[in-house]
Amino acid sequence: MSGEAGQLAGLMAGASEADAHASAASAIVVAGARLVAAGLIAGKDGNISVRLDADLFLVTPAGVGKGRMIEGDLIRVDLNGRVVSSVGRPSTELAVHLAIYRARPDVMAVVHAHPPTATGFALAGEDFMAPLLPEIILGLGGVPLVPYAIPGSEALATNVERIVRTHDALLLANHGAVTLGSTLELALERMEILEHAARIILTARLLGRVNQLTPEQLQALHTLREAASGGGASTFAQESAR
Ligand SMILES: [Zn+2]
Repeated sequence: MSGEAGQLAGLMAGASEADAHASAASAIVVAGARLVAAGLIAGKDGNISVRLDADLFLVTPAGVGKGRMIEGDLIRVDLNGRVVSSVGRPSTELAVHLAIYRARPDVMAVVHAHPPTATGFALAGEDFMAPLLPEIILGLGGVPLVPYAIPGSEALATNVERIVRTHDALLLANHGAVTLGSTLELALERMEILEHAARIILTARLLGRVNQLTPEQLQALHTLREAASGGGASTFAQESAR
């Protein structure tokens, strides 16, 4: 490659990296507003990140309301959490996001929120692993409960890393929820599905009866999910409804 062609290739690579940053930044700003509008976070809660490449991530800043962010507030970090060509302080839950990206090379976006009904179940020490709703099985692959650790701590990141290999949505005991996906849209959708499912299950509880799917019905859903994802792990406890 001539010097000129090399320079051009370099410029083009720089331009596509800038494009990737700009489109991820605008998607994160829109996602923050969507989480607030849906009542899934309040105040300065929650955080969102997107993978720009194998070792570069765009993450929401600490201490900023996610409904009021602008694109310039977002922070670029590497896989070790070092801030790269940005100013400001990344989300206090950055360690959880990076633990997920390390464990799951397929994940391109992570959303953490405090969806009120789903978090109520997490406060009660409950997961969504029982075979109750097709949308949990098909859309989320079951939602386990991650043991409590102080928000923002490395211990919480370690607890998440242990469990995230086989699940796309997690409840955090006494805290909130985390969802992930191959796109930010998918991660957001999973957060919305989780909260919606939590409201449905709570309603059934209030009505006094929760009918579980049969093992045959569950198997049929697993087959559908595997066909849709080309594999993918999901584990369901055949436990009785609580
Ligand atoms: Zn939180």
